[in-house]
Amino acid sequence: SAKEQGIELNRYAHAMQMKAQERLQLENDLRKALARGQFYLVYQPQVNLQSGLVVGMEALVRWQHPQRGSVSPAEFIPLAEESGLIVPLGEWVLREACAQNKRWQEAGYRKLCVSVNLSMRQFRHSHLLDSINNILKETGLEPAWLELEITESMTFDKDRAFEQLRKIKEIGVHISIDDFGTGYSSLHYLKDLPIDRLKIDRSFVNEIMEDSNNAAIVSTITSMAHHLQLKVTAEGVENEDQMLFLRNQHCHEAQGYFFSKPIEAAVFEKKFLRDIDT
Ligand code: C2E
Ligand code: CA
Ligand code: CA
Ligand code: CA
Repeated sequence: SAKEQGIELNRYAHAMQMKAQERLQLENDLRKALARGQFYLVYQPQVNLQSGLVVGMEALVRWQHPQRGSVSPAEFIPLAEESGLIVPLGEWVLREACAQNKRWQEAGYRKLCVSVNLSMRQFRHSHLLDSINNILKETGLEPAWLELEITESMTFDKDRAFEQLRKIKEIGVHISIDDFGTGYSSLHYLKDLPIDRLKIDRSFVNEIMEDSNNAAIVSTITSMAHHLQLKVTAEGVENEDQMLFLRNQHCHEAQGYFFSKPIEAAVFEKKFLRDIDT
């Protein structure tokens, strides 16, 4: 009946309002989270498939919310991106990751490269270069031990992306394309972009043993990367079969739960740094 429909609509409107309120609340909390020290980084090892050595780590941000507990970046990164908070947050992540890497180097561990994710808004921001330069200077990390991960969608505006990437490369920082294969980057300008590495999206890697199409895609991307003289990393490696397949394909590096989940700095140090020199 019309009355029932009215009640349904009311319920729907109410649910939507709640959603909007919840979102607003989360956004408010996010704004304060940086000053309150609620963010921290976890690190996931990147392994060279020929030597078996850990050669790098990806820094991933975590938010410990006082009431909600751990909030996933899948939830708060888009919110931070929309509100612009991603710029100061991204800068904090970059500083923290560089500082941590430098501390590990000074402790005498074998040097590793740290990868940091850039958001679209950060990448477009006119102060990005200054920010990178300042952070490297402040922390004393040599640029060659930093890699920045961008996604294909950020290269959509080719000229602008090219310019920004060229300046980053000039500093001596490495650049990789994250989630490769899921976006729209056209192969015809991939060859021109000043990048160092492709990271094959984990959606392809996940099912290489079950789905021959995925296996074909992974080996094609790997061989293309070799031809373009780019490094290639497989993401989301969860078992030994996948690892062996990738090694056979001469994929350079891999990352995934098979090696380790992303873990806190102290745990990373204990598991992957203290032992490797012995
Ligand atoms: P991403 O950059 O593609 O990061 C990889 C994600 O895959 C991480 O999720 C990681 O925990 C997860 N992962 C790694 N190995 C495996 C595996 O073997 N199996 C499965 N199922 N998952 C695996 P996380 O940490 O939840 O991050 C999600 C996304 O949030 C990231 O995707 C990235 O786009 C974004 N993000 C995280 N930290 C930052 C940051 O500091 N800045 C920016 N801009 N974005 C970030
Ligand atoms: Ca990434
Ligand atoms: Ca990725
Ligand atoms: Ca991603």
